Amino acid sequence: MAQNGTTDSGVAGGTHAPSFPQPVKVQEIRHTKIFINNEWHASSKGATFPTLNPATGVKICDVEEADKAEVDKAVQAARAAGRSGASWRKMDVSSRGRLLHKLADLVERDRALLATLETMDTGKPFLQSFFIDLDGSIKTLRYYAGWADKIQGRSLPVDDSFLCFTRHEPVGVCGAIIPWNFPLLMFMWKIAPALSCGNTVVIKPAEQTPLTALHVGALIKEAGFPPGVVNIVPGFGPSAGAAIASHMDIDKVAFTGSTKVGQLIKEAAAKSNLKRVTLELGGKNPCIVFADSDLQLAVAETQKGAFYNQGQCCTAASRVFVEESIYEEFVRCSVEGAKNIVTGDPLDPRTSHGPQIDQEQFDKIMELIESGKEEGARLECGGKAVGDTGLFLQPTIFSGVKDHMRIAKEEIFGPVQCIFSFKSQQEAIERANSTEYGLVAAVFTRCLDRALSVSAALETGTVWVNCYNALHAQTPFGGCKMSGVGRELGEYALAEYSEVKAVTIKLRETL
Ligand code: ADP
Repeated sequence: MAQNGTTDSGVAGGTHAPSFPQPVKVQEIRHTKIFINNEWHASSKGATFPTLNPATGVKICDVEEADKAEVDKAVQAARAAGRSGASWRKMDVSSRGRLLHKLADLVERDRALLATLETMDTGKPFLQSFFIDLDGSIKTLRYYAGWADKIQGRSLPVDDSFLCFTRHEPVGVCGAIIPWNFPLLMFMWKIAPALSCGNTVVIKPAEQTPLTALHVGALIKEAGFPPGVVNIVPGFGPSAGAAIASHMDIDKVAFTGSTKVGQLIKEAAAKSNLKRVTLELGGKNPCIVFADSDLQLAVAETQKGAFYNQGQCCTAASRVFVEESIYEEFVRCSVEGAKNIVTGDPLDPRTSHGPQIDQEQFDKIMELIESGKEEGARLECGGKAVGDTGLFLQPTIFSGVKDHMRIAKEEIFGPVQCIFSFKSQQEAIERANSTEYGLVAAVFTRCLDRALSVSAALETGTVWVNCYNALHAQTPFGGCKMSGVGRELGEYALAEYSEVKAVTIKLRETL
């Protein structure tokens, strides 16, 4: 997922000049503890968990494990920091913006280190971490820094005997639970709008990838955020994550992850204190490629959509519908493109394709690839592990995919592109919409009328036209149907983090 369409293509594969950024040599991981009240804490029950490098399978370090007790402590700290009269609430709102800018400055200062940690923990290619994840993170912080002193209510016309106006107040303590595929970017997508609106935060990184979040904890303290404004609780889903979702003193939870866990979060929120919920969940995202499209562009963008981040994206372009007359040519060019992808050590700046995150995901993807073969799809390329260490998988393309096959219906979360053929526009729209998901879609055509009418007909939160994964801090992102609830990014996200209070004053004297 590139949160900036322009840098994305600049790092996709091939060789790079030596002047490209290089990873930092990490001697020791400095931040491995639980971050509450701007202090580092050990686990109260003495538990740690290892975080592994998926490219080698080797442990990077042990991290202190937060459980319910630590979530309680973090919530107390966040509640105290957000109380009226506390420095965070009394602060001039433009100073909130300045703190977010300061944090962005520090993230820029530590950019190479953060990109290195992200690559070590997730396996994503270093230049993608450096350019795309870091760029998106910095831009998100700066975008919401700019909003901090522009979040305003309205005065409302009633009649002359009343003055009515609205105040946009913070929701309170915001819980956040984030996934392993974009650990740093998702951290920023959650904290930046929450802080811009004056909330406090308790955030749980995924157990597979806690390292960049913890490093940012140190930067939050260095930037000068008051203690308790952001608290970071590394731990597992069913313990620390569930404690956030069901907490009686958390006012809102924002979750990014699987649809299955999203359902648990919403249920826990409903059964506890009816906290607000925003969910960004799975997808089975369709691309529709018309015969009048720029074929090379459509091949390159759909391929980027399918294989970016090893296919581990909720936005993965896993269903590509291609008009019958260009189908064979499209498949041929896609296979040619897939063979040029450079798989290897993700810390090597020449690499464009790294390992899957863990054995469980790897096995799930392999099982779905087998199902595709058994159900009669044509394996055009890939389908096998690369080497015998790490969790590397060849970029895989199936053609001749039919809508009833498992690979056509289930979220694969791996580097597998499924190519279908279609005859008519109406048929393509119906088949694209025929899924429980509704996250993103893409249309490739040179015809403006068609682009607009197909965009309107697609049941998704985002439609990209002649591009893919073009995300920007200014543009709302989120899904409909079982892909989620609510929107992140852009001005729309401010509503998810603000409580609107109406104040009505009866005037004693009117003319
Ligand atoms: P994936 O299957 O891709 O790992 P998950 O939805 O399981 O995605 O995980 C996304 C985030 O949700 C992670 O931070 C994980 O720890 C958390 N999580 C998993 N299970 C639960 C749960 N029962 N309650 C709350 N959070 C959970």
